Amino acid sequence: MEVSVTSSTLLPDRTRVAIIGSGFAGLAMAIRLKQAGEHNFVVLERADDVGGTWRDNTYPGCACDVPSNLYSFSFAPNPYWSRAFSPQAEIHEYLRETARRFGVLPHIAFGADVESAHWVDDDQEWIVETSAGTVQTRILVSGAGPLSEPSYPDIPGLEDFAGKRFHSADWDHGHDLTGERVAVIGTGASAVQFVPHVQSRARHLTIFQRTPPWVLPRPDRPVPGLLQRAYAAAPAMQKAVRAGVYWRQEAMLPGLVHKPELLKGVEKLARAHMKWSVKDPALRAKLTPDYRIGCKRILIANGYYPSLAKPNVDVVTDQIARVGVDSITTADGTERPIDTLIFGTGFHVTDSAISDRVRGRHGETLAERWKGSPQAYLGASVSGFPNLFLLVGPNTGPGHTSVVFYIESQVAYVLDALRTMDSLGATSLDVRRDVEDSFNDDVQRRMRGTVWTTGGCGSWYLDESGRNTTLWPGFSFQLRWRTRKFDLGSYDVGRRTPLPATA
Ligand code: NAP
Repeated sequence: MEVSVTSSTLLPDRTRVAIIGSGFAGLAMAIRLKQAGEHNFVVLERADDVGGTWRDNTYPGCACDVPSNLYSFSFAPNPYWSRAFSPQAEIHEYLRETARRFGVLPHIAFGADVESAHWVDDDQEWIVETSAGTVQTRILVSGAGPLSEPSYPDIPGLEDFAGKRFHSADWDHGHDLTGERVAVIGTGASAVQFVPHVQSRARHLTIFQRTPPWVLPRPDRPVPGLLQRAYAAAPAMQKAVRAGVYWRQEAMLPGLVHKPELLKGVEKLARAHMKWSVKDPALRAKLTPDYRIGCKRILIANGYYPSLAKPNVDVVTDQIARVGVDSITTADGTERPIDTLIFGTGFHVTDSAISDRVRGRHGETLAERWKGSPQAYLGASVSGFPNLFLLVGPNTGPGHTSVVFYIESQVAYVLDALRTMDSLGATSLDVRRDVEDSFNDDVQRRMRGTVWTTGGCGSWYLDESGRNTTLWPGFSFQLRWRTRKFDLGSYDVGRRTPLPATA
């Protein structure tokens, strides 16, 4: 189903709600606003298409590792997912089609990259500067997402490399890897998906692995046409399957959060998976993690281990010392010739660009306020930043289930905040600092026994101070419960009083 999404609204001078980004989060906010009868909003999208991370990540093999029946909006089920775990192109198309179907495309200002936003107390509104112009808005919602800014390693000599290089989030599809000597840096969720493709084309593939991931088999399968038609005819059936997937994912939570020892059985499965594909004990030793499973995101992939066992692949665990014009040299002095270098090195999660660009009522940016350790009340509200709502903000990322569930919880919270403002005639809501702090103390207290902090690994879940400021340390329904209703008592309410009449 081809959909044109290039039509764009002109950027209005003034709006009630401005939403940053048109990925899952931005679109959910826009659609729910529209359904609630609010039409005075704009979505600021830096690119020329919707989709966020599912638009940008087009690397070969890119697919979701959460089952599609759950990795989709509750209000827009798709009976026609072709596989249990959807490929990227299908998810991107789903987002485009959903944006069109719910009528939010005319609200999207494409090519509007948010350069800065600052709160003006006197006017009780945000001034948002974008690459397409300025917009004044009462409410600012960030759906910029934690996986939008690719992270590149800082390796000496990288700028001298004369071969081809690109990041997994910016795949160069015009470049043919056939017969090349390729290096991949990183062995995370993206790398395990694209490595089999690279291995099958390259003359030689060197994988620079800093930390081995735990990898489980991927129970993927095509969804038969008959089942797709059944889902379309009986949506309740797909809903029941979705609920089953939801509770299966939640069942992982006690092991991750409360009793990491419970995960030993899952480790056994991962080891057996590796043993099945990798017969060489020396290679298996390199690939075996020395931390508890779940400490980093658990990866699911069927083609990764078999491709590492192929004769044209080397897994290098020595630290990279420098990059030369056409080679990479490791700390032990070994120089390996390279034609193309692919970064599978992830994203700026706890130091996202948007935090440098949003400035609150005290003149400081989110990044300055956070000092490397993000926090927000319910992941959404930051004291001193009135009428700013973050979607998938600090400590509301999922470690075990679909991010879409979290997004919809926070979107409901924002909608209720807007309704509350309307009913009170309020012009601003600013979460109280003591409320924000005690919420975060509680989150960090609950974080203490989790596998993410005790499992013996470093990960992108942790900020520079070592605190886990990305994941929600509980069942996802606990966040849903906390966000079901806007809690006015936690906020300072602003009302712009009309100027006194002059005599
Ligand atoms: P990632 O999981 O953060 O992995 C980055 C990899 O690069 C890690 O192996 C890391 O090693 C390595 N690395 C980073 N900096 C390095 C350096 N300076 N030198 C050497 N190695 C370095 O990134 P990603 O694979 O792009 O995935 C990011 C997230 O995107 C995932 O966790 C997941 O949430 C999401 N994702 C989801 C799906 C999905 O199916 N839903 C698919 C792909 C990605 P260390 O482990 O030692 O840090």
